Amino acid sequence: MKEKISQVFKEKFGSEEGVFYASAGRINLIGEHTDYNGGFVFPGAIDKVIMAEIKPNGTEKVRVFSIDIDEYAEFGLKEEDAPSQSWARYIFGVCREIIKRGGKVEGFDAVFAGNVPLGAGLSSSAALESCFAYALNDMFNGNTIEKFELAKIGQSTEHNYCGVNCGIMDQFASVFGKKDNLMRLDCRSMEYEYFPFSPTGYKLVLVDSRVKHELKDSPYNKRRQSCERVAKRLGVDTLRDATAEALDSVKGDITAEDYFRAKFVIEEKERVLAVCDALVKGDYATVGEKMYETHHGLSKDYEVSCEELDFLNDVAKECGVTGSRIMGGGFGGCTINLVKNTLYDQFISTAKEKFNAKYGHEPMIYDVVISDGAHRCE
Ligand code: ADP
Ligand code: MG
Repeated sequence: MKEKISQVFKEKFGSEEGVFYASAGRINLIGEHTDYNGGFVFPGAIDKVIMAEIKPNGTEKVRVFSIDIDEYAEFGLKEEDAPSQSWARYIFGVCREIIKRGGKVEGFDAVFAGNVPLGAGLSSSAALESCFAYALNDMFNGNTIEKFELAKIGQSTEHNYCGVNCGIMDQFASVFGKKDNLMRLDCRSMEYEYFPFSPTGYKLVLVDSRVKHELKDSPYNKRRQSCERVAKRLGVDTLRDATAEALDSVKGDITAEDYFRAKFVIEEKERVLAVCDALVKGDYATVGEKMYETHHGLSKDYEVSCEELDFLNDVAKECGVTGSRIMGGGFGGCTINLVKNTLYDQFISTAKEKFNAKYGHEPMIYDVVISDGAHRCE
């Protein structure tokens, strides 16, 4: 990828080399629908990246070429200079958010490419934002912008320039990612801690159903409202502060639906902590069990699964895969699977074959290795 970028950079912007930067997509091992409930998420950066070669150009203009989209964009750095191409708005947004915070951005030339699959739930957009946020901090600000602020710059870019009202997890993971480590992020205090994740003898693999069910009556908002109602009934800010006992004590006063939504969230918080303990001991069998429990909860209690994802989860179970669950908001997308190396080939071929026979297309398969997040490439 680096050679290709370098070659295109020379063609577009001349022979004087720029500096290379990269940042990563992410997975979330466990901790789903917990962020807006003040709970924990447990992401890690992966070996799928966006990489850019960048060089200040001494003007007030940004000139950037996307190899994958095969398009060129040029824009100024004032609010009214926003480019029309959606991919370029991610970069423009990062520039603007740095400037809004009092940081410095001058004109630059850039060429970039990536291998984070777009829209598959691996957060290619966060990889793009944090690659440029990290680069512009290094290039124009002497690395004085703190890493957490870089993540927030990416998040604000999504909110203000891309129309995506996302949380902080994706950008956090992309900026803070560390090889062989997952990060437990506390979405209430924003404190985080690294946990070792180097599952020797296992692979982490995503099976992408390539379905996305568009649902009416905004199911996410309804889930959030259920959680908020139960938290209010229990007299706590968020379900982070609720216990299973407290929930059971109000069971008679809340709807069955609200009860099961809250039950999932409370159990999921405990599962993340259990997985952390298991990882410290290198106990991947327990990690896998918890992943299955999460899937079950998301499917039966939180009701954000779908036929295709339950099918893939069943296939994983039948094949003896150690852990498997929906990753992401639900209603489509990927399952994340922890698979013994010895079972890998059989699992993948079975999943492809069975899924294709039932749904008429094969799932996409993405192997991932937990890797470094945003960095300057030496
Ligand atoms: P994801 O779940 O992968 O983050 P999004 O829809 O949030 O999906 O972001 C995908 C968008 O990010 C693309 O439509 C494009 O604008 C931008 N993007 C991601 N990767 C690339 C890339 N390699 N080259 C150009 N733009 C990219
Ligand atoms: Mg995204």
